[in-house]
Amino acid sequence: MSSSKPVISRRRMFERMAGAAALGSAFRFVEQPAGAQQPADRPVNRYSAPSRLQITDMRAIRIASNYDYPIIRIDTNQGVYGLGEARDAGNEGMALILKPHIVGKNPLNIAEILDSVRNFANQRRMGGGYSALDIALHDISGKVYGVPAYRLVGSKYRDRIRIYCDTTETADPKLFAERLVLRKKNGFTFFKMDLGTDLVARQPGAVNTRGVATEKGLKLLCEYLATVRDGIGYDVPLAADHFGPLNVNDSIRYARAFEPYELAWMEDPLQVGTLSTGDAPKNWRFYKEIKEATTTVINTGESLFGLEEGFRPLIENLAVDMIHPDPLTAGALIETKRIADFASMYGIPTAVHFAGSPVGCMAGVHMAATIKDFVAMENHAVDIPWWGDLVTGVPKPIIQNGYIPVPETPGLGVELNEEACKAHLRIQGWFEPTPQFDKPIVDEYRIGGPYPHLDDNGKPVVSR
Ligand SMILES: [Mg+2]
Repeated sequence: MSSSKPVISRRRMFERMAGAAALGSAFRFVEQPAGAQQPADRPVNRYSAPSRLQITDMRAIRIASNYDYPIIRIDTNQGVYGLGEARDAGNEGMALILKPHIVGKNPLNIAEILDSVRNFANQRRMGGGYSALDIALHDISGKVYGVPAYRLVGSKYRDRIRIYCDTTETADPKLFAERLVLRKKNGFTFFKMDLGTDLVARQPGAVNTRGVATEKGLKLLCEYLATVRDGIGYDVPLAADHFGPLNVNDSIRYARAFEPYELAWMEDPLQVGTLSTGDAPKNWRFYKEIKEATTTVINTGESLFGLEEGFRPLIENLAVDMIHPDPLTAGALIETKRIADFASMYGIPTAVHFAGSPVGCMAGVHMAATIKDFVAMENHAVDIPWWGDLVTGVPKPIIQNGYIPVPETPGLGVELNEEACKAHLRIQGWFEPTPQFDKPIVDEYRIGGPYPHLDDNGKPVVSR
């Protein structure tokens, strides 16, 4: 390091690097004067003026499927657009009300835009608009910078995302086990079942007047679970969900009864979306009580938005063994990763809930690629034959041997297959104009004009 020779050679190296950058890929993103010609031997950047990129519009379609899929498109002044999706069974209006708050902004300023509309987001489907916006902005930015969406929020922990799938419930445990075995044959390595109290409700004395299993009913539920375990094996991850209207003590009773069957997790023992006794963030003490009373893995989170708004108390109080955010409610790529990273600090892993279209699914895949302590991501449409047809751009089938490969193409890596989508529209029309959302219809604070007040002489006036 003492000789001057290496310094000169380093400088030359930097000069060479700068020259190479000017001729190479970095050149693609340098703003060009209007009408400038791209030399033929350089890659053409179709979106050559990122600093002048502006959002011009937001429109939507809604696909009718197992649940409705509200899909949005954000357009810009340079032709590049982004696709996003609000939470399944939600409404595109949650995203569209944000339109007047983002039009004219540069879509590459993702965090600033999301911060500016964060107060519009809340738990359950009310997190869907914010989440759809996050996804569409990452799709645009990925296309503009020529990188896959995951690269904008982190680096990759895995090349493919392990998928778990829901399987249609039946009161016959042998038939249900056969369905799971078929899933296994199709390559799935992670399974989930509905273990609803309704499975045993027809048995006399099995369910009390609150809709909760009695001791007899709980024994029957465990027999059901044992039959399923015997079919699928005890060595594969099997999660369970949808137990009914349980309170904390019911949940503990159920969770303890399930211990011999080593569930991958018991999901939402307290019902989702029930503010008083359910999965509301303020009820983290309920969850802590359940978690500490059993060795069954307890998880929740599919209806929670945001780290501060939803997940923080559950995580920092170690109130659950695992979190289970849905990216289309939790805040999509940036926020769900933020939640998962925070959970990792406390040793809590993240499973991902998901029940939407391939657009939102790929957003979840990009996000899941970047989180450290990832378990598996849900797919709720394995039995819908046309689900994968809704998009182009990724290998088909989208789920390959129980995994989804992480795309390396710019943005989300998918475009809509217009013909396939049009065959399943809930509302006719294709990304129709949305003038009803041009002006804010809800806002945080607006001054409508001069208001009645007293002037310096104490005289009531309206004008200033
Ligand atoms: Mg669930």
